Amino acid sequence: MKILKYFISALALALVSFAAGAQTVFDRLDLDSPALEKVASAHKRGDDSLAARELLDYFRSRGVEYPGFDSNAPKASQEELRWADEALEHRFFVHKGYQPSYFYGDDIDWTYWPVKDNELRWQLHRHKWFAPMGKAYRLSGDEKYVREWMFQYRDWIAKNPLVLIDNEEFEIKYQGRVGEVKENVRFAWRPLEVSHRVEDQIRQFALMLPAQCFDADFLMDFLDNYYRHVDYLQAHYSEKGNHLLFEAQRVLAASLFFKEFKDAPKWREDAIAILNKEIQAQVYEDGTHFELDPHYHFEAAILFYKALSLCEGFGQLSVFPQSYVQTVHKMIQLSYNQLYPDYSLPIFSDCRMIEKSHFLETFRSWTKVFPEDEYLEYLASEGSGGSLPSWKSKAFPVGGFYILRNGWGSDATVVNVKGGPEAFWHCQPDNGTFEYWSEGRNFFPDSGSFVYGGDASILEQREWFRQTRVHNTVTLDDRNFEKTDSRLLRWKKSGAVTLSNESYPGFVHTRSLRLSKNGTLTIKDVISGEATGEVGVHFNLAPGEISIDALTVRTLFDDGNNIEITSRSKAPLSIRKEEGWTSPVYKTKIERPAYAVTAQKTSSKPLTIVTVIKKTGK
Ligand code: MG
Repeated sequence: MKILKYFISALALALVSFAAGAQTVFDRLDLDSPALEKVASAHKRGDDSLAARELLDYFRSRGVEYPGFDSNAPKASQEELRWADEALEHRFFVHKGYQPSYFYGDDIDWTYWPVKDNELRWQLHRHKWFAPMGKAYRLSGDEKYVREWMFQYRDWIAKNPLVLIDNEEFEIKYQGRVGEVKENVRFAWRPLEVSHRVEDQIRQFALMLPAQCFDADFLMDFLDNYYRHVDYLQAHYSEKGNHLLFEAQRVLAASLFFKEFKDAPKWREDAIAILNKEIQAQVYEDGTHFELDPHYHFEAAILFYKALSLCEGFGQLSVFPQSYVQTVHKMIQLSYNQLYPDYSLPIFSDCRMIEKSHFLETFRSWTKVFPEDEYLEYLASEGSGGSLPSWKSKAFPVGGFYILRNGWGSDATVVNVKGGPEAFWHCQPDNGTFEYWSEGRNFFPDSGSFVYGGDASILEQREWFRQTRVHNTVTLDDRNFEKTDSRLLRWKKSGAVTLSNESYPGFVHTRSLRLSKNGTLTIKDVISGEATGEVGVHFNLAPGEISIDALTVRTLFDDGNNIEITSRSKAPLSIRKEEGWTSPVYKTKIERPAYAVTAQKTSSKPLTIVTVIKKTGK
């Protein structure tokens, strides 16, 4: 029954799509190209059915692989193969934060939104299970994956039409359903999601193409849909931010892979212009991406690099200036300076943990363009090649990231400090915060972000993790900062930094951090200005037990890797336990000890609190 239903709807959709789409696909191809001679000839004779078959033969024989991805020998994890099998039952892998995957109905409901987290609805339209279905087909030879992919691909087109909203025609056509359709367009056709599909469908196309069931009719539907995607993006690029970067890089990929479209050179030209402009607008001169989020920074570096390597991979002479290449290298240098010896990054802002395998794969790819970078080679080879840097501590003063370290090995102590300018959406009001990593343990992991956005209950969860007080910095009456624009007052490459931020009107927080060779971190907080109230110096520790003895806090890890934190001041201090959580990945949170050292500021007289964090061993 299911097969019959599937067959009928696929056929119906195919007929509709073929009739509507075939003419336009041929119009959009560069039929003057010698490679498409047979297609052009059949089309000129009015035999579009033959032209479509010729086009399919052409794609099957043209033999262009996507750089960095071998569709003839795909690698699939067990997880990906599970997603492919679950997709056959319409249980779609949408988001790692929402597992097990939800069932979207025998008759797929692309508007199903079981938890009102925007990411869950947006990312459904990324079709993350499609490429795994292609891999499952290549590895098993079973075309059931391709047939189901074709069915879902067409089902998605039919149920998520690209309609231009906010015009009279739309209001008339969708009378009574205007709100519902608008909402769906907002999710299904958000430019970031469109760009995701544009790039991923290249892989899907390469993987599925050899299947017998991939016929000329489907090719027409595919190319028609694909063209509309890129064409839509061209006119709806995001205004700014990381979304714009992703969109441009993915349009560049589309222009290189589907070079048969007449518009491909224009797509390429526009995408390269955006990337060239944005690398200057979004990356400060010290190499910091302006969202001040180590994860997005890393991904932006990958993206700028990918655009470079894509052009090279397709045999295009590099169209990027040398300054572009140098900026990519600076971005890479920030990431690897921040990196802890266990291949993890601080989870400031909306950052979350990145798998070590992702780092290794990325570092290996980067060494191809930057072979002279010895530390990159060291990281890529896990220490078997390359060499360690000549420096230890490093400052990125424009973006406001400072790394204090006493070594590079697994026995090192590394302190990542954050205190930069006002930043874009992913940044949090956390100036002056730090993480302290030592001998394999991050003793002060950032709270992370937990979720991004959605209805009120989701936003409330996001807000908890964004609060200033859940960061390792200083607040007035536990309030969020009103201003986040730190100034660098002093930097010492031996491992010391002093930053100042006017966190609230009349409340200037000057924080000095110094890391000694033995791993002791001394933090001096000076609060000046007219504002009065309760000053709180916040400490959010790694999950585990602690003991509190007057103004000294100790961690109690069984492995003997422990610290002791002591605060002192001329003013009376007290300690208050606080709620503590850290979220290493989306939708995962771990309870952890947290406390504030508090003092009353009753006048404009500066208040000084000094905290010493030292290693204690067993
Ligand atoms: Mg944070």
